[in-house]
Amino acid sequence: MEFATFADRAGTIEAEPAALEVVAHVRDLFADAGSDLEVVARFVQGRVFPAWDSTTLDIGPSACYEAIARAAGTNVSSDDVEARLAEVGEIGDVAANYDFGGQQGLGAFTGGGGGNGGNLTVREVHETLEDIAAAEGSGSQDRKVDLLFGLFNRCSSEEARYLARIVLSEMRIGVGEGTVRDAIAEAFDVPTDRVERALQVSNDYGQVARTARDDGLEGLDSTELEVGRPVQAMLAQTGTVTDALEEWETAGVEWKYDGARIQLHHAPNRSNESTAETRVFSRNMEEVTDALPEVVEFAAAHLEEPAILDGEVVAIDEDGSPLPFQEVLKRFRRKHDVAKAREDVSVRPVFFDCLHAGGEDLLAEPLTTRHDRLRSVLVDADADPVADDEIEGLSLLWRTDDPDEIESIAAEALEAGHEGIMLKNPDSTYSPGRRGKHWRKRKPDVETLDCVVTGAEWGEGRRATVLGTFELAVRTGDDSEERRSAGSAVEPQNLETVGKVATGITDEKLEELTDLLEPHITVAEGQTVDLEPAVVFEVGYEEIQSSPTYSSGYALRFPRFVGVRSDKSPADADSLERLERLHDQ
Ligand code: AMP
Repeated sequence: MEFATFADRAGTIEAEPAALEVVAHVRDLFADAGSDLEVVARFVQGRVFPAWDSTTLDIGPSACYEAIARAAGTNVSSDDVEARLAEVGEIGDVAANYDFGGQQGLGAFTGGGGGNGGNLTVREVHETLEDIAAAEGSGSQDRKVDLLFGLFNRCSSEEARYLARIVLSEMRIGVGEGTVRDAIAEAFDVPTDRVERALQVSNDYGQVARTARDDGLEGLDSTELEVGRPVQAMLAQTGTVTDALEEWETAGVEWKYDGARIQLHHAPNRSNESTAETRVFSRNMEEVTDALPEVVEFAAAHLEEPAILDGEVVAIDEDGSPLPFQEVLKRFRRKHDVAKAREDVSVRPVFFDCLHAGGEDLLAEPLTTRHDRLRSVLVDADADPVADDEIEGLSLLWRTDDPDEIESIAAEALEAGHEGIMLKNPDSTYSPGRRGKHWRKRKPDVETLDCVVTGAEWGEGRRATVLGTFELAVRTGDDSEERRSAGSAVEPQNLETVGKVATGITDEKLEELTDLLEPHITVAEGQTVDLEPAVVFEVGYEEIQSSPTYSSGYALRFPRFVGVRSDKSPADADSLERLERLHDQ
C-alpha cells in the first residue's frame, strides 16, 4: 500500500464523526491493505510495534522536530517547528503545513527527493522506523534523525501529518482498540468476541488481523499465549465486603501487597539449567528482568515447568518484613548499578495468579483452578506435602462467606505490614487489561472514627480470659473546642452507642486491651461488662447506616479496630454530630 493511500484513509477516518462509520472505514482499510495488513493495523492506532513488544523508536520530540525542520528547508530550524507547535498545538498540523522535499544530501541516499509524496510505501516507512529503533550506540541519535529526515523529505503534507503522529505515538484519529477489534471482525467476517480473545492472548493487533484474514475463526481460536510475550494485567476496582458477598456466593480473599506488579515468564531448559529463559514484565508490559535478579533467581530455584505467573514484587528489610512501596521503586526500573541497589533494598516476589503452566493456557479457567495450578507450579513435586503458607512465593487465597473471617484476614494482612485485602470472584476467568468487578481492592476507610469504649464481652473457649467484643459510643452534646480543651469528664449519659467491634484484633492485642480496660469495669454480668468512659478506639468501617439497634440511631457497617488512641480522652472522641455529618455525606 502506498503511504499516501494510508494517509488519505487516515484523513477520512479523522474527519468522520460517527463511530459506526469509523469502524466501516477502518474495515475497508484493512480489507485493502494486502500484504501490509499487520503494519496498517498498528499504524492506524499510532503504533509501530505490537503492544507486547517494548521496543521503542527511542527518538524524542526534539529529534522529530529537527528532522521536520531539515526536510522543510534551510530557513527552518527546529526552534521554528517548536514555536509553531506551541501555536497550533498538534504536531501533525505543524508537519502538514511545511512544504517538504527536494532537500539534498541524506534525503537522496534514502532514495527520495520527490517532495510531493506518492512514492513512499507503508512498507518502506515501517522498515525505516525499524531501522530507527535499531540504531544504538554512539552517533545513533544523529543516525535516527537522518533516517527520519529521509522519510519526511519524501512526504506530501498529508503523509507528513500522519508520519509525525506515528513517530510521536499520537495518532489521534479516533481509532481505539475497540474500533480495531470491530473492524477486524467486520472485514474478515469473524465474531467480535473471538477477535477479542485472540487480542487478549497475543497483544498484537497486526497478528490478529492477519490471522483473521488468512486462517479465519480456526486460526483465531488457536492463538495461544507465548511464554516470553507479556499479557496485559487484569486490574481491580475498589469495592466493599458487602458488595462482594452480595454478588458472589463466597469471596476469594487475598492479602494486598504494597509493591509493584510483575508478570514472570519462565521457560526452563530441562537439560541445562543455566540456559533457562526468564523474563519479567511490569504492569505496562515493559521488560524489567535486569532490574530484578531476585525474581530470576526465584524462578530458577522454584519453577520446573514453563509458566506465566502474575504477582507483585515487594521490597523487604533484613527480617523479610515488607517495606513501603517507595522502596520498590528504587529497584523496579533500574538499569544501572543493580547489584549496588540490591545491597540497599532487596525484593521478593509473591504470586497470586497463573496464566499458563506446562504448555496449557489458563485464562479461561476459574480463579480457584488457576490458584491450584499456581500452587502446583511452585511446589517441588518430589518434596513432602507442605502447607500453603510454607510455600515460598505463594499468595494465599481464602474462600469464605463470613465477613468476620474477612476482617480477621484483613487484620492479619495489616499486622504483617501489607496494604489490606483484595476480594476476588472465585469463579471468574482472567480478563487481561480489564478493570472489572471480579477483582476488588477493598476500599480504604474514608475517615476513621474515634469512639469511646463503653462495654465489652469476655471471649469464649481459648479466649475466655480476654475481652473480645467492644461496645463503641460517640459523645453527645456540646462539640465546642472550649469544652474539649477544658478536658471535662464525659458522663455515660452523654454517650450514645454506634456498634461493636470484634475484628481486626490479634490475640496478643486482645490481651493488651484486656489489661487496659479491666480496671475500668463498673458492672459485670455474665459475659458482659460495662466500662466507665476512659479508653478511645480508632475504628474503621465501610459505611454508617441509620439503625434502631444502637442508641445513637446509627450503626457502623463492618467496624474494625485500627488502634487505641492513647493520646485522646473520651472528651476528645468523635461526637454524634460528626457521625451524622459523615452519614449524610
Ligand atoms: P491499585 O494499584 O491500587 O489499583 O491496586 C491493584 C494492584 O494491587 C494490582 O495491580 C497489583 O499490583 C496489586 N496487588 C497486590 N496484591 C494483590 C493481589 N493479591 N491480587 C491482585 N493484585 C494485587
